Amino acid sequence: MINKQTLSIKIVVIFLVCILTAIPAFALKVYVNPSIQTGNYSPDGAYQEAAGMQDVAVRLVNKLIGRGIEARNSGWLSLSGACTDSENWGSDCFVALHTDASGSGWTSTHGTTTLYWYNNPTSAYFAGICSDQVSRHFTKFGLNYNRGTSARSDLYVLNPSNQSAVPSALVEGLFHTNYNDVYGALMNDSGRQAYAEGVCAAVCKYYGIIYNEDGPSACSMNSNRIDMVSRGAYGQVVLDTWTSAVGWSTVSLGGVTYEAPAIVSRTNGILDAFCASTTGVLHQNHYENGNWSGWQNLNQTLASGPSVCSQNSNNITICARNGGNNQVYVRNWTTSGGWGSWVPLYGTTYDSPCIVSRASGTLDVFARGPDNKLYQKSSYDGGVTWTANWYNHNFVIGSAPAGVSRNSGNVELFFRGTNNNMMGHNWNSGGVWTLADYGGQISAVPAVAKRDSNTMDVFVRGTDDYLYQLGWTAAGGWWAGYYNMGYYY
Ligand SMILES: [Zn+2]
Repeated sequence: MINKQTLSIKIVVIFLVCILTAIPAFALKVYVNPSIQTGNYSPDGAYQEAAGMQDVAVRLVNKLIGRGIEARNSGWLSLSGACTDSENWGSDCFVALHTDASGSGWTSTHGTTTLYWYNNPTSAYFAGICSDQVSRHFTKFGLNYNRGTSARSDLYVLNPSNQSAVPSALVEGLFHTNYNDVYGALMNDSGRQAYAEGVCAAVCKYYGIIYNEDGPSACSMNSNRIDMVSRGAYGQVVLDTWTSAVGWSTVSLGGVTYEAPAIVSRTNGILDAFCASTTGVLHQNHYENGNWSGWQNLNQTLASGPSVCSQNSNNITICARNGGNNQVYVRNWTTSGGWGSWVPLYGTTYDSPCIVSRASGTLDVFARGPDNKLYQKSSYDGGVTWTANWYNHNFVIGSAPAGVSRNSGNVELFFRGTNNNMMGHNWNSGGVWTLADYGGQISAVPAVAKRDSNTMDVFVRGTDDYLYQLGWTAAGGWWAGYYNMGYYY
């Protein structure tokens, strides 16, 4: 929640980065209990329930820890062993992870169900949130069928005489006897990640903990204008434009996307907006001479919203997470050569990476790793070759980062901290990174635009789903408080 009364912005420089990660934000304990059913296979033998759910459990525990929640994985413990372990640990919440089955051979029965102990209304309520969130997270694969909840009195791990955590739920995420459920999601890294994200979102929603969602993207073509894109109520790309003469105005750029869109200006008068379609295919909308071109298909499937920067007035550089392997890829466009080929940066992320150029030829990519820590790779030849290894900034971030460069000796990153505050991490040409806490309690990835080297505007979504702006000038520093811009979808 962003409270304007209490928002005198305190820029707290944290000298010891470890402080950020050492303080747990929540004492909540969530026990994760993946299936150990090694005999449950898809009809073709390719997918095994136990192997799939053990993998989802590892991802889920990482996601929960990234939100400041204590989490414990029963791994391959027996049902009774897991229940005893959960009791001994003192779990507040218990989530079993399974995939469903129906009949023999491939069947049409599909979707997500969550089971709960028949006479526990708290668990019934939590189970409903689980089915809702898990099925929503399968939307990008077209597998969002929500079968709701089912009251059961025959499941060992839900029986309060075996383990007593409330709420407790057993998620049956998709059917391993449905071909589309198996090959559309369960067999894929991205699909199992979506399962974990869905359960993590359900736990966060139940306990009122902020969960990462899409944020806007912003750029500035001159010192008197800001353009910001975001995803609207129907998935359309919404453009908010600010000019010093008119203030803010809003138009729809159309399209439908499940991911956050991105926008860049490579020179005054020109904008390029990018989004991934509902099937993850990258599209571009070009603005010049006061007109938008409409969405053009760039024929590349992504697993994340894109991030984009401009190295100079004749260049656009885009980066995104690839669906097949969750690696970061970067691609250049130039006025003379058009689009080049995608360059892999390897590594793994489950979020949108971000790309920043502080000078022509210099690029920095930042991403949240599977361990929720901030990582960086750099290029000094315009994106052809990259530093060999991802540099680990070695602290946990609560959302993907967003960034901008105000001048060739500066990089400004913004992200949500594990305390849900808007955090900054800025670099100067002396090579020093400085971490700062800007308060604010935010619920999504921030966006940042620089109107000139001495002016920056950061846009964040609050926990009340309103969009807020926080401006900075070299002369005046940060604004005294966040400005409420109105409701954000
Ligand atoms: Zn099962």
